[in-house]
Amino acid sequence: MAEDSWYNGYSARERDLKFKELKRRIARGETPPASGPCALCGDPDVPVEYHDEDYGEPYIWEPPALLALCRNCHRNKLHKRFSDNAAWKAFIAHVRRGGYARDLKDKAVKKEADACKRLIEQGKPFSLTPMRPYPREVGKEWFTNLRLDPESLKDPTSRPRP
Ligand SMILES: [Zn+2]
Repeated sequence: MAEDSWYNGYSARERDLKFKELKRRIARGETPPASGPCALCGDPDVPVEYHDEDYGEPYIWEPPALLALCRNCHRNKLHKRFSDNAAWKAFIAHVRRGGYARDLKDKAVKKEADACKRLIEQGKPFSLTPMRPYPREVGKEWFTNLRLDPESLKDPTSRPRP
């Protein structure tokens, strides 16, 4: 996890404090180690790690604050959404067709997702071939309305709780 920088209006110090407490809680058995499926792409068969959306006090140790994500979703998608909004939106479309992050290693799958990204950049409609049933309600997922502007990293109003 990247606790060395701002996120959702929380400073590196605030993030580090909660992360250290999380490690203590896991060591004491108060919070289980992260376990799947990935809370973003839904992959049931991939190693996951904790991501936190909310570092406010009192601390919350469950979704939608504390989430178990696969490394690919966590590091390459979620935390990189600020520098490439269209790539993030195309990835959400991929997730909603039942795609896992690891499916993008498949050339044909990736090609279709890349084409989707270009259409999003052009403001055009897009569709992707469904891969698996999607169990969540589109538009109600925790990741639906995340801010994509880099300013949100340090903006106190981007905190989930005031
Ligand atoms: Zn994932």
